[in-house]
Amino acid sequence: MPIKIPRAHKKSAPKSKPKGRKFAFQTPKGMHDMLPADFLFFDKIEKALKKIVCYYGFERIETPIMEDARIFERGTGMTSEIVQKQMFTVKTRGGEVMALRPEMTPGVLRAYVESGLSHVMSPAKFYYLSPLFRYEQPQHGRFRQFYQLGFEILGSDEAVYDAQTISAVYRTIGELKLKNIMVRVNSIGCKTCRATYVKKLKEYYKNKLSKMCKDCNKRYSENPLRLLDCKEEKCQPFKAQAPQTLDYLCTACKHHFKLVLEYLDEMKIPYLIDSTLVRGLDYYSRTVFEVFIEGLDFALGGGGRYDYLSETLGGPRMAAVGAACGVERIVEAMKLQQIPSLVKNKNRVFLVYMGDQAKKKSLSILENLYDAGICVKEAFSKDSLKSQLRMADREKAELALILGQQEVFEDVIIVRDMQSGTQESVPLRKIVEEVKRRLR
Ligand code: AMP
Repeated sequence: MPIKIPRAHKKSAPKSKPKGRKFAFQTPKGMHDMLPADFLFFDKIEKALKKIVCYYGFERIETPIMEDARIFERGTGMTSEIVQKQMFTVKTRGGEVMALRPEMTPGVLRAYVESGLSHVMSPAKFYYLSPLFRYEQPQHGRFRQFYQLGFEILGSDEAVYDAQTISAVYRTIGELKLKNIMVRVNSIGCKTCRATYVKKLKEYYKNKLSKMCKDCNKRYSENPLRLLDCKEEKCQPFKAQAPQTLDYLCTACKHHFKLVLEYLDEMKIPYLIDSTLVRGLDYYSRTVFEVFIEGLDFALGGGGRYDYLSETLGGPRMAAVGAACGVERIVEAMKLQQIPSLVKNKNRVFLVYMGDQAKKKSLSILENLYDAGICVKEAFSKDSLKSQLRMADREKAELALILGQQEVFEDVIIVRDMQSGTQESVPLRKIVEEVKRRLR
């Protein structure tokens, strides 16, 4: 007996976010699941990134999620907040201390040297889109596991690469149509001129410490540059009057910074010189920068030059520059500016079956359709015709292909236009052509 098809249902999909249900375990503190709807944003960002890296000639790199903890202790620096407070460390059964990577740069540099690529690709331009881990106090825009997209240019001290790194960040964010992007840029000089500056800075702060916060007192002895990083209210007036890095740059660093700014001008990238910008990681030298979006109280990304990191890690002398952006923060900015995510891939065809024989036969039909590049949704876990059609309706499928026992015997399939409700039997051998024709 041919299948009697019920009328299409007009019950639409629930609009609000579904409510979570009780479960014995939750996501670890400060970490989050990435659900299909999140990937519509993530994939859009990845698409923008891939377009920009193609223009600029960056190649993808990935490193293990864990590294020897010492690479961060020595590289990122013992006085950095990341190493002091935020590393997830793991002691292996063999007794090694590993760290879940809190940032990508030291690992990328290690991979570049260890693989021998540094002999054949210099400068090398790498990009990544990878998860990182920091044991932070979770708060708005700050997670314990988060994604960064980033760029590293290894093997050159040319100022043009500083500008290109900034531009890669700027263009990636711009590609997403984010507006009001602000780049703050500064130079913290090389080893030599920075030493003079730090001396001046310490002299300036010396008799102000009793009025300053506890962290600043610690920074004074451990990493004085970071005194300029302080966000405490009571330290702000001192910070405002502090000596500025730019006034102490040596001739070579001054020239380098001037070139960076000229190249940014040439690329029409708007920037602001921020003499208090020093960044939290120990390894930076010369150019440092951060990227903001108006209305968000955290940076979207940041980076800088790190000409001494390779040597610090026992590698060859190698100048380099890099930048990273928080993907979750980009998503936040997109939501703030009402920039849509990608649209969920729509399956225009829905396959409906009735009975075990039809279910089995459906599999080869689906394979044929897949081979022809046609995406088809099914609901094999539902037996009733009514609920399968209801689902096809909810998915807003244009065509339903309906297969029952009789159709299997007769080697045909019913093609139903979901909009008009009209339907016809089509020989199975012609189904691919017929679907293609109707979808055109
Ligand atoms: P950093 O590696 O500290 O220079 O950070 C670069 C960018 O990564 C920041 O500007 C943020 O966008 C992002 N980021 C850093 N830490 C976190 C975090 N805990 N959660 C989310 N995003 C972060």
